[in-house]
Amino acid sequence: RSKDAGGGVYHAYEPQLHVVAEERRVLEIALRGAVENREMHLQYQPVVNAATGQLTGFEALLRWQHPELGNISPAKFVPLAEEARLIAPIGEWVLRTACAEAARWDLPVRVAVNVSPEQLHNPAFVSVVAQALAQSGLPPERLELEVTESVFMREGTQATQVLERILDLGVRLSLDDFGTGYSSLGYLAHTRFSSIKIDRSFVQGASKGTKEAIAIIRAVVALADSLGMATTAEGVETEDEHLMVQQLGCSKVQGYYFGRPLPVQEARILATRQVGGSVAA
Ligand code: C2E
Ligand code: MG
Ligand code: MG
Ligand code: MG
Repeated sequence: RSKDAGGGVYHAYEPQLHVVAEERRVLEIALRGAVENREMHLQYQPVVNAATGQLTGFEALLRWQHPELGNISPAKFVPLAEEARLIAPIGEWVLRTACAEAARWDLPVRVAVNVSPEQLHNPAFVSVVAQALAQSGLPPERLELEVTESVFMREGTQATQVLERILDLGVRLSLDDFGTGYSSLGYLAHTRFSSIKIDRSFVQGASKGTKEAIAIIRAVVALADSLGMATTAEGVETEDEHLMVQQLGCSKVQGYYFGRPLPVQEARILATRQVGGSVAA
């Protein structure tokens, strides 16, 4: 890759690296104006009780539609926003928008918002959450924040303290994409997560009969049970996958089989139809 790596290597790699760097530069500049230019919106994916099929809430998922570049996947722009230190202002917009939209539904469904590690390493994030709740009027117990295990991998205890103060607000926490990172299980016992979200890769593996995937889901469900936490199976696409994770004891399910991420108005219609005035577990 470097200039002294030999002429052939240099010529084969350099232009490609240049294209990637240029694309990133273009995206980063576009990303800086995305919120202000109203290019972002949220979609809401249903989360369902695995046993009863009843809707319990939605996960808010960020969407970016650039006028020239088109739809850009969060899998692409969220890591870029994190590296460019833009995730805090974007994440604040996500939180305020999700709270405001969910408060307007006025239905007993939860809204889950994804939070990046960078946001949790800033103590001021606690007041961002408190303000989003106060301004929207959303009851704290209807808000859930999704964090990934990578938040525990950085030095220092600041994120743990921020999470504690968020819990004190009455907001729920869930552990997202569980099993895809690598970290010790110790923090699980120390943080009051309401739910552990089991990554789609295990769900797929289990329904294909992969022994290791089945063993891992079993172990996570047992661990969650003993810690008083629920489990949510992510990315359930088929009836077979649903039956498998239900049989393995997962408490909640989410995935295309139950519903794709929906525009806010459609999420509201679904919630009104499914929940009406009754309280979801
Ligand atoms: P995630 O938090 O694990 O979200 C679940 C992802 O799985 C979403 O992708 C969702 O659309 C997708 N998904 C749901 N059901 C299925 C299914 O049955 N099959 C398949 N193949 N996929 C399914 P999406 O919306 O592209 O988001 C990707 C990731 O970007 C999210 O993964 C999350 O890590 C991140 N992200 C999205 N919105 C935000 C946000 O507001 N803030 C932050 N920090 N990250 C976000
Ligand atoms: Mg998530
Ligand atoms: Mg997830
Ligand atoms: Mg995932």
